Amino acid sequence: MTAEPATPDPTAVRAKTAIPPNPGRRDLGMKATLLFPDREIVERFYVPLIYTACRTCYSEEEPEEIFRKAVVGETDPARQQKLIQRVIESGHGSTIEHVVFSFGITGVSRTLSHQLVRHRAGVAFDQQSQRYVKFKDAATMRPATIEDADADLRERFDDQLEGSLSLYGDLLAAGIPGEDARFVFPNATRTNLVMTANLRALIHMSGLRLCTMAQWEIRRLFQLIRHEIFAVSPFLGAFLAPKCVPLGYCDESGNRDEHCPIRPHKDNVLAAWSEKAKATREAARASQAAGGEAARG
Ligand SMILES: Cc1cc2nc3c(=O)[nH]c(=O)nc-3n(C[C@H](O)[C@H](O)[C@H](O)COP(=O)(O)OP(=O)(O)OC[C@H]3O[C@@H](n4cnc5c(N)ncnc54)[C@H](O)[C@@H]3O)c2cc1C
Repeated sequence: MTAEPATPDPTAVRAKTAIPPNPGRRDLGMKATLLFPDREIVERFYVPLIYTACRTCYSEEEPEEIFRKAVVGETDPARQQKLIQRVIESGHGSTIEHVVFSFGITGVSRTLSHQLVRHRAGVAFDQQSQRYVKFKDAATMRPATIEDADADLRERFDDQLEGSLSLYGDLLAAGIPGEDARFVFPNATRTNLVMTANLRALIHMSGLRLCTMAQWEIRRLFQLIRHEIFAVSPFLGAFLAPKCVPLGYCDESGNRDEHCPIRPHKDNVLAAWSEKAKATREAARASQAAGGEAARG
């Protein structure tokens, strides 16, 4: 006799899945370096420039005058920041497209770079070519899970990579062009890029990639990027956060169980709002009914 399939208990509390470990705890051998601008330029011109873009919308003054006053400090820097904060929080994003940040990104895997270059709006990339560079000793990345795995599996992973890289060398030695020999490179192969992004794009990308649902390596990259922006401007760096922070709720379908506790899930926020609206309607009806009773009495 076959057993009846168990009927799921709708009241049962679902076991929470775990938050992926913070990738910042490992040294992954990657770097993100802010190439331009430096702190002086950011402090002197970036905040005044964003302020000028914001203020121009609400002022009779010409942008040149607004900018001049902001740069020399005639407009209180705290006032500049307050307006910028308000405008960014209102979602008027064009004001922060006027400033850009250029990064040197080094030692990331091709797995990461493929994800990174999916961002299109307000961002430019240049990446080390696997056609023109003939790699003598291509570097690779080993994920932490594989590093911590059974020694036999780890060894097989390393052998596989070594085999690919050694075949690459043999293909080149046999006169196969680099653009074809590279077909044996694994996703683990490290690469370098230059990325320039305006602040709006950077905030958008950070919103997606600092989220705990993002893949660990790209999450780590954006932790490094945020660190670099903080170093030149804690004020601007503070806008680089997982998207749930400015939203106030999590919209990731994979986090309905709220295993990531940074913000409540949208479904739960809406359910609580709906409950509250229902209770308010019921209280109004009860108060109306009580009023009617009193009038009749
Ligand atoms: C956790 C996670 C998992 C993912 N999984 C997958 C996956 O399994 N498979 C996959 O293919 N991709 C996946 N992606 C990539 C994702 O689908 C996007 O391609 C990537 O995040 C780029 O973001 P974006 O579309 O906001 O583009 P950006 O270029 O960063 O654009 C910024 C914003 O500009 C606007 N915009 C840009 N271009 C256009 C346009 N052409 N038309 C209209 N508006 C535009 C949009 O509002 C957009 O949000 C994943 C991303 C994340 C963060």
